[in-house]
Amino acid sequence: CGIVGYVGSQSALDVVMAGLKRLEYRGYDSAGVAVLADGGLAAAKKAGKLVNLEKELVERPLPTGSTGIGHTRWATHGGPTDANAHPHLDNAGRVAVVHNGIIENFALLRAELAERGHELTSETDTEVVAHLLAEEFSVTSDLAEAMRLVCRRLEGAFTLVAVHADAPDVVVGARRNSPLVVGVGEGEAFLASDVAAFIAHTRSAIELGQDQVVELRRDGVTVTGFDGRPADIRSYHVDWDASA
Ligand code: GLU
Repeated sequence: CGIVGYVGSQSALDVVMAGLKRLEYRGYDSAGVAVLADGGLAAAKKAGKLVNLEKELVERPLPTGSTGIGHTRWATHGGPTDANAHPHLDNAGRVAVVHNGIIENFALLRAELAERGHELTSETDTEVVAHLLAEEFSVTSDLAEAMRLVCRRLEGAFTLVAVHADAPDVVVGARRNSPLVVGVGEGEAFLASDVAAFIAHTRSAIELGQDQVVELRRDGVTVTGFDGRPADIRSYHVDWDASA
């Protein structure tokens, strides 16, 4: 439902949680976050309102890192439980993904992954993406390329945002028939399903086109098609009043 991603020098958790709050108006049933820190990946997720996640983060704080993603979920596949909340991780706990929309061919992909020894732990259509990204990343060591390869195998409507513990300072996003906008700041960059999530930080935005992947780093943004071809960047200035 709501997606936020951040890479920069601020606390990613703070930026992502504030962004998720700006998206609360859209409605949701669960929420979660993941941050890269100390060479690893740490995640927290809870059914219910953001306040439940906030309590969880007080009881079990995450390490501080400056790369992170967050999600508010509106369940379509699998009930609104902690396990089904996003982010979803691969079995090694190195990659985390959040997703808006529906992966239509998830049942087939789940069966293929199970055959290759993956253990799926949720009832969502989303979880397959974490496992597929882990497989592709283990070959390419390039998260944007892994995302492109995975997206070419997905059917349906999706916005996907992912981080990998072995790709520090990188956030990758992709979209098909579901919105995703990029915010470009000074030494930092944002991804969100809606500009409201990052308008407090930057008004310099890029609209991601259909079937495109974006790679966010502190010093810039790269956009390609699912086929790997470089794409034109469609920048614009967000001039509406976010405090309204
Ligand atoms: N289909 C996914 C799920 O049920 C994503 C739902 C959403 O857009 O929040 O977990």
